[in-house]
Amino acid sequence: MTGSPVLTIRGLTVDYGTGTGAVRALRDIDLTLHRGEVLGLAGESGSGKSTLAYAVTRLLSPPGVITGGEVHYHPPGARDAAPVDLLALSPRRLRAFRWQELSIVFQGAMNSLNPVHTVHSQLTDVLKAHRPGMKAAERTARAEELLSLVGISTDRLTAFPHQLSGGMRQRVMIAMALALEPEIVIMDEPTTALDVVMQRQILRQLVRLREELGFSVVFITHDISLLIEFSDRIAIMYGGRIVEEADAAEIYRDPRHPYSDGLLHSFPALHGPRRELTGIPGSPPHLSAMPAGCAFHPRCGKAFAPCAERVPVPAAPDGEPARSVACWLHHPVPADSV
Ligand code: ADP
Ligand code: MG
Repeated sequence: MTGSPVLTIRGLTVDYGTGTGAVRALRDIDLTLHRGEVLGLAGESGSGKSTLAYAVTRLLSPPGVITGGEVHYHPPGARDAAPVDLLALSPRRLRAFRWQELSIVFQGAMNSLNPVHTVHSQLTDVLKAHRPGMKAAERTARAEELLSLVGISTDRLTAFPHQLSGGMRQRVMIAMALALEPEIVIMDEPTTALDVVMQRQILRQLVRLREELGFSVVFITHDISLLIEFSDRIAIMYGGRIVEEADAAEIYRDPRHPYSDGLLHSFPALHGPRRELTGIPGSPPHLSAMPAGCAFHPRCGKAFAPCAERVPVPAAPDGEPARSVACWLHHPVPADSV
C-alpha cells in the first residue's frame, strides 16, 4: 500500500547538548511515510527511534536540539496543497496540529492515563479542547464510538483506569489518539509492557482501523518480528542512522544489511519458517564513542576494509529501486578509499 507522501523527513539531524559536550543522536535521516501506510521503525534500544519520534512531532525537549534537516507534512486533498513545514510551526499552530493531524502514543502510554478521571472524562477532554462547538451529548456519543472502535464495551466509559486491564488501558490510549481522526498516528513502543498475545491483538486491531479510517502509522518497536507481521514497510535504525528500508516482506525474505539480518535472528517469529535465534554479538555503541566508518562494523561478521573508514550512505542496490541500504557490501566502494 503506497499512496502519496504524507510525511517527508529529509536530512534530519539531532544533537543532545551543545558545544563540545554535544553528542549526535540522529544523523541525516531521510524517511517518507505514505498515505495509508504502516511504517515500522526497528532497532535496538538507544538507536534513536524515540528521538526521531520526538523530533518529528516537535516534542523534543532540552538538551535535545534539531541541528539540521526538514520535516514536511502533506495535507490530504488537493494535490498541490502546500506542504506544512513542521520545524517552522508556531507553538499555537503546533498545538492544533498535534491530535488533529498527527497524534502520538508514547512508550508506557498505558500508564499515562489520569488515575482519578474516568475513561469518559479523558476521552471527552480531548474533544472539549479541540472541538469547542461540540455539545456534551455529542462528545459522549463520540467517546462511545471511539471505545467501540478499539473493541471495548461502551459500559467501560464510567470506569477508572485501575479498573481496566493493561491491554484495555492501551486501547483507550489508542482511542484517544484517534479521537480527532488524525492523518498520522505515531506509536512509540506502545505495547512493550503487554504480553505477546495482547500486543498482537492490539496491533491487529490497529491495522484494521487503519483500513477503515485511512490514517498512516509509524510503529516503533525493538521487536522486528511484530513489524514483519503488521507493517507495509520497515526502516531499521542503528547508531542514529537508517541502515536499511524496504517492504516488510522483502526485509524478511532477504535482509541486506547484516544488522537487519541480526535483528531478524534476535526475535522469534510467530509465522513462517523458524530462524535460529543467534542474536547480535556485542552491544550498541555509545553516542560519545561512535565508531568511525559504518557504526555497526565492530559487531559485523561481514565487515571488510572500507567499513571501518567510510560511512556508507543509504542507496538503492542495483535493480531494486524500492529498497535502500547503507552498507558497503551492496555498493561500489569509491576507488580512493583503501
Ligand atoms: P531508542 O528509542 O531507539 O531506544 P532514543 O532515541 O531514546 O533511542 O535514544 C537515542 C540515543 O540518545 C541514546 O544513546 C540515548 O542515550 C541518547 N539520549 C536520549 N535522550 C537523551 C537525553 N535527554 N540526553 C542525552 N542523551 C539522550
Ligand atoms: Mg525509545
